[in-house]
Amino acid sequence: MKKFKVGILGATGMVGQNYIRLLENHPWFDVVYVAASANSAGTSYEDSVKGRWQMATAIPKNVAKLKVEDVSNIEKASKVCDFVFSAFEMPDKKLIKETEEAYAKVGIPVVSNASANRGTPDVPMLIPEINADHVEVIKVQQKNHNWKKGFIVVKPNCSLQSYLTPIFALHQAGYKVKKIIITTMQAVSGAGYPGVPSLDMIDNVVPYISGEEEKTEQEPLKILGSIENGKIENYKDLSVSATCTRVPVTDGHTASVNILFKDKKPTKEEILKIWNNFKSIPQKLKLPSAPEKPIIYKEEENRPQPKKDRDNDKGMAVTVGRLRDCNIFDYKFVALSHNTVRGAAGGGILNAELLVKKGYIN
Ligand code: NAP
Repeated sequence: MKKFKVGILGATGMVGQNYIRLLENHPWFDVVYVAASANSAGTSYEDSVKGRWQMATAIPKNVAKLKVEDVSNIEKASKVCDFVFSAFEMPDKKLIKETEEAYAKVGIPVVSNASANRGTPDVPMLIPEINADHVEVIKVQQKNHNWKKGFIVVKPNCSLQSYLTPIFALHQAGYKVKKIIITTMQAVSGAGYPGVPSLDMIDNVVPYISGEEEKTEQEPLKILGSIENGKIENYKDLSVSATCTRVPVTDGHTASVNILFKDKKPTKEEILKIWNNFKSIPQKLKLPSAPEKPIIYKEEENRPQPKKDRDNDKGMAVTVGRLRDCNIFDYKFVALSHNTVRGAAGGGILNAELLVKKGYIN
């Protein structure tokens, strides 16, 4: 198979670096184009990330010498890229939305990590294990904008990645959850680089992350939603109450989750069976980045832990533990996912693999 030529927008940042690391030797995708802010543009990639390369592996040779382009140079990207991963920041979210749309307009599919287009009704927000069918909305999006080849898909906020797949697995088995109370303990890499100042983080917990609780409460409703008349209609039978905190952990968002079922309540044994047997579209399609087991349950009473569990199945699996009765709701458990892999670059790559298999990127 001929490899797709891929561009990374925001290639110098925390998520961009993870894309570059994870795409080294990818069987379908070749990184041929990197872009960032005007400050980095014009230098080689290795020079632009000198002193701030955060990955444990070296910069791949094929990327090190690439010239960094300005994200706003869309014409240049259109000559080189089959599609792009979007992982750039801008102070104004409206500008991110407009920039991603400008890429789609010139015919470049955009697989995005940014929040700017997550609320756009004709933009699917994908976790392929949950809502791979939402890719169908792409046709409506293209028609709405009169785009021939380009389109935008997004992935959700990293804070909900740990708990939503386990909840969906229960829904799929006929046990609908109607209320969730969640407290997240989120890693510092979630704030990008250099992120939260060390004096705010060491020996501390910060009980607030701007905008995060709203995303954690709202985004699941779109992901669990259904397509009606070409539009994604939000799921209505679930309410989520979230407290999002930042903790001194490098990678891996942990969540303490309390759940109340709508009517039927499974036994603990049934829940564990559902989670342990859960497989979905990425596994059936054998997508290269799909985890073999999307949900890993740890029996040890002191797991999951970010340090020990974030890299399970190359950082693509969600690890769950401590399922127990709740005195107020039905059950409670702890869930963990790698925020810059499953919750960002790895999740974006899995989305792109799905889009290739479904024929949207071709
Ligand atoms: P980051 O480390 O701060 O990187 C930001 C990137 O955006 C850099 O490449 C930067 O380029 C570029 N950039 C900054 N200002 C720009 C401008 N005016 N025009 C064009 N490019 C500009 O942030 P990050 O953590 O990688 O996050 C990137 C995106 O992914 C954000 O939308 C974030 O919300 C989302 N996300 C992050 C995570 C996570 O765990 N970190 C998870 C899910 C989603 P320079 O190096 O040239 O400044």
